[in-house]
Amino acid sequence: MSIEKLIFQLLENVGENPKRAGLVKTPARVARAWKEWTAGYAPFPHSLTLFSTNFDGIIARKGIPFASTCEHHLAHYSGTIDFGYIPNKQMLGISKIIRLIQHYCARLTVQEDLTKDLVEKFEVAVKPKGMIIKISAFHSCESSRGVSMPNVPTITFLATGIFKKEKHLVDQFYHLLSS
Ligand SMILES: [Zn+2]
Repeated sequence: MSIEKLIFQLLENVGENPKRAGLVKTPARVARAWKEWTAGYAPFPHSLTLFSTNFDGIIARKGIPFASTCEHHLAHYSGTIDFGYIPNKQMLGISKIIRLIQHYCARLTVQEDLTKDLVEKFEVAVKPKGMIIKISAFHSCESSRGVSMPNVPTITFLATGIFKKEKHLVDQFYHLLSS
């Protein structure tokens, strides 16, 4: 069954009239929106050109906005991602870091697994010496229902490789983010 038909039925099931003027185009609109929200199941649409480098310091991106869809409620959650890595002779263009992250967010996820998945995707592609990622997000499934807590972010954090072995690098990363 198409998404359009499913949404038509959903509208009927919640007690709406899907044929009223305000809703008549909603199923098609929702179907288009779901294509965007799940675009991350398609292959990554950009080339992942790696550049050689001798730089062995931290490359960080701060406050990357993202949105994903919670696999438990099909509700959206969004927030920001702080991301850093230390290259091992090769690096990715800085805008590709953001595209890579946003691509894999466009799937059904839970924040904890998303954190790990993003690290794994990047590690496979770039093979850095280590990576660090912090995701801070607000979940609409929590703010709009259930415990109804609108302003409590969920924070997940993961450090791998050299960031795991040498804790001072984590401090350095946070120092960078605060500047
Ligand atoms: Zn949820």
